Amino acid sequence: MAKDYYGILGVRRDASADDIKRAYRQLARQFHPDVNADPAAQDRFKEINAAYEVLSDPKKREIVDLGGDPLGPGGGSAGAGAGPFVGFQDIMDAFFGNAASRGPRSRTRAGSDAILRLELDLHETAFGIEAPISVDTAVLCQTCDGAGTAPGTHPTTCETCAGRGEIQSVQRTFLGQVVSARPCPACQGFGSVIAHPCAKCGGDGRTRARRNLTVKIPAGVEDGMRIRLAQQGEVGPGGGPPGDLYVEIHERPHDIFSRKGDDLHCRVTVPMTAAALGTRITLKTLDSEETVDVKPGTQPGSSLRIRGRGVPHLRGSGRGDLHVHLDVRTPTKLTPDEERMLRDFARTRGEEVAELSRQKGGFLSFMRDAFNGHA
Ligand SMILES: [Zn+2]
Ligand SMILES: [Zn+2]
Repeated sequence: MAKDYYGILGVRRDASADDIKRAYRQLARQFHPDVNADPAAQDRFKEINAAYEVLSDPKKREIVDLGGDPLGPGGGSAGAGAGPFVGFQDIMDAFFGNAASRGPRSRTRAGSDAILRLELDLHETAFGIEAPISVDTAVLCQTCDGAGTAPGTHPTTCETCAGRGEIQSVQRTFLGQVVSARPCPACQGFGSVIAHPCAKCGGDGRTRARRNLTVKIPAGVEDGMRIRLAQQGEVGPGGGPPGDLYVEIHERPHDIFSRKGDDLHCRVTVPMTAAALGTRITLKTLDSEETVDVKPGTQPGSSLRIRGRGVPHLRGSGRGDLHVHLDVRTPTKLTPDEERMLRDFARTRGEEVAELSRQKGGFLSFMRDAFNGHA
């Protein structure tokens, strides 16, 4: 049974040479072991190679069209991708013919971005700050101004590649003659060598330095946000343009306030009597002192909202709110007088209380009695 080479490439039996080429290129992009780590891709790629070898050759294709298999037993060729292994980039170059046109690469390359972590207090993230920062990055070498050469010297043309920056080799494969180009090992592809490197930077064109900058943190930033300082990152090799510096905000936890977006939350404990009778409390917010009324009959877990006393909005005007969560404190130790007053109070309200300290069976017995309805 002959292999379905058309099926492997996913082309029709009347596909043109261009269609076959396009299909192969597409599949090589998908299944070449250089770009696809799946072990199954390797076998699939061999199959694709074999199909292309057959269908791109008019003589072999004719055998297929007559029902034979040019790669099968008695088919002649060794085939099935048995030729030299062709790298992914070489396949692309064979199709696009750009192997010879890359040329030497520049010594100057753009620098990378840098990131710096900045710890701030809630007060600083809320209201903004001009924060001094100290950043350690690559900077332009002052001795050679980025050129990498010792003063008064210049790079010389690489003898190995004659300044082309690459070495070409020619391979005979099922794709025909494939010209592949590798970066020149003698000059790392630069096409020139620095015989006398700058003593300060060793030829890299940059040195490391610590710089002190000031970053303006706007009011209302949040934990995890990044402020971008354009071109304050790492200078590139050969004195290339610097990347950006990102300052990542980390907000320290606050003793009193926890933050949710632009709202702040805090807890205030009031005595049981104040919760029952109502009271007025003064509390310090992030930037002011506020007096708030605790209504008579306040329940544990209820909260008050103080509008506009949260964190200023980063975008637009206004501020979040401050939520004051109220806990009610039940007295734990009562004097005999206090206990008597509370019992009197309970009696006037018709509320059942047990004399736990003196009752046999203690708490569990009280619970049981309560459920039975005669505590
Ligand atoms: Zn230098
Ligand atoms: Zn070279």
